[in-house]
Amino acid sequence: MTDDRRDELAANLDAVRRRIAVSCDDAGRDAGEVSLVVVTKFFPASDVRLLADLGVTDVGENRHQEAEAKAAECVDLGLRWHFIGGLQSNKAAAVAAYADVVESLDRAKLVGPLSRGAHARGHDVDVLLQVSLDPPGADHRSGADPADLDELARSVEEAGMLRLRGLMAVAPLDDDPLEAFARLAAIHAELLTGHPEATVLSAGMSGDLEAAIRHGATHVRVGSAVLGPRPTNQ
Ligand SMILES: *Cc1c(COP(=O)(O)O)cnc(C)c1O
Repeated sequence: MTDDRRDELAANLDAVRRRIAVSCDDAGRDAGEVSLVVVTKFFPASDVRLLADLGVTDVGENRHQEAEAKAAECVDLGLRWHFIGGLQSNKAAAVAAYADVVESLDRAKLVGPLSRGAHARGHDVDVLLQVSLDPPGADHRSGADPADLDELARSVEEAGMLRLRGLMAVAPLDDDPLEAFARLAAIHAELLTGHPEATVLSAGMSGDLEAAIRHGATHVRVGSAVLGPRPTNQ
């Protein structure tokens, strides 16, 4: 059973790594410029263990309780845990206790609790600002308005034990990902003029990683293409 699962994960990982290599090649980029974060939400710690054994170094989770439990179970593996889900301000300090990278900081209210959590842990936490690529006024936006990024970046820079590293975004469902990621590249370039340390661009998932790499993604977050379909609806 475990051997079958290991073979399945190994084959899927190979396929995703090939897609990343081909996309980099097509975009005239070095394959070493793009890091893979495997999104393990809904899958058990046993899969995380197999992935670590297959050379995965970075994993992503989007729900605090699930992430906290899995990170504790896998603490011996030395993985980098990325928190990529919606953050509540009353949970932010707890997330900073295990997350090495928080990719979904989208409002100033989260900065204080994240910084306090990082202090309590005695460990710097890397932060990406999540920016919305939805048209203004759209329902269910997650992510900051592009116009608010500069101020948000400043508040992260001024907080203790948080390191501003870059931007994260998800392409809107009903949009052409190439167009969405082209907008993201422009937003990233603008952010970099005031915050040159914000070099990370986390964009692209199982369905659109090629488009993201074309437009400068440095990190892709891939779940189902590696682990298979998720057991429950998102
Ligand atoms: C679930 C999730 C992913 C991975 O999605 P797949 O389509 O399964 O690759 C990436 N980013 C975020 C923010 C997610 O919530």
